[in-house]
Amino acid sequence: MRNRLITAGTVAALALTLAACGGTGNGGTTTPAGGGETTTEAGGEETGGETGGAGGGEGTLTVGIKYDQPGLGLQQGADFTGFDVDVARYVAEHLGYDDIEFVESISAQRETMLENGQVDMIFATYSITDARRERVDFAGPYFVAGQDLLVRQDEAEITGPETLEGRILCSVEGSTSAERIRDDHPGVELYPAATYSECVELLTATTVDAVTTDDIILAGFANQPAYAGQLKVVGNTFSTENYGVGLPKGSTELCGQVNEAIAEMVSSGAWEEALSSNAGADYQYNAETNPPEAMECA
Ligand code: GLU
Repeated sequence: MRNRLITAGTVAALALTLAACGGTGNGGTTTPAGGGETTTEAGGEETGGETGGAGGGEGTLTVGIKYDQPGLGLQQGADFTGFDVDVARYVAEHLGYDDIEFVESISAQRETMLENGQVDMIFATYSITDARRERVDFAGPYFVAGQDLLVRQDEAEITGPETLEGRILCSVEGSTSAERIRDDHPGVELYPAATYSECVELLTATTVDAVTTDDIILAGFANQPAYAGQLKVVGNTFSTENYGVGLPKGSTELCGQVNEAIAEMVSSGAWEEALSSNAGADYQYNAETNPPEAMECA
């Protein structure tokens, strides 16, 4: 517990360093308010005790999340909310960490951030794929989503990816969503953005005709009060996205510990609670595939 004494100061210093060299936009407000405010309280689970914690660390866990995805990973001033954030807090506490430092990980930067050691783990709607497994490890999955389309409320013609000929579709560079459209629907005009919030702005501005990514992400945007009555999710999924916890390559032991934490989150009811309190009111997760079984740690 020696680290407790230095945690608040260390976190503040770290936050300043990250804000100074981060440069991903978003106003640089990564400072955890008042030092230590980001300390986890996940699920009422006790810290320290029986976390099975070989290698588990006191101190601060640096976690990559999305900053702009309502219901999943959202920065609101000094606070962070969403299902990914709640799962990250639960796992960090299970591993015995005192604090979490959140860092923005946009889709295209996730593998690089893990390879460079900029983050310890990533909880960012991050699908497990074989291509990504060549560069990083994954624990989980902790959720299964499916790719879908978001359109303006008055859109009548777009009902699936095959109805997009001659229309403009926004998605995000470095995502499985954009890659699937390029591979399976090469005739569709793809507008590549850096973030989904950028795509949604382009959709309401009528610059693009649809946005594609995972249904839970799209539902989170459609459910925002700012977009009330303006947007709808088509509701016709065309992929299986297994959300994993991104880890640096060679993290087999850590992967097992993360899977243990996720299993406990599910069995305690905290997983269901985190999902229902964060996902948009209109979003129904696929109960046949959720909660998923962990895959083997490589
Ligand atoms: N789950 C997909 C992926 O990992 C799309 C969502 C995202 O870009 O975060 O690429």
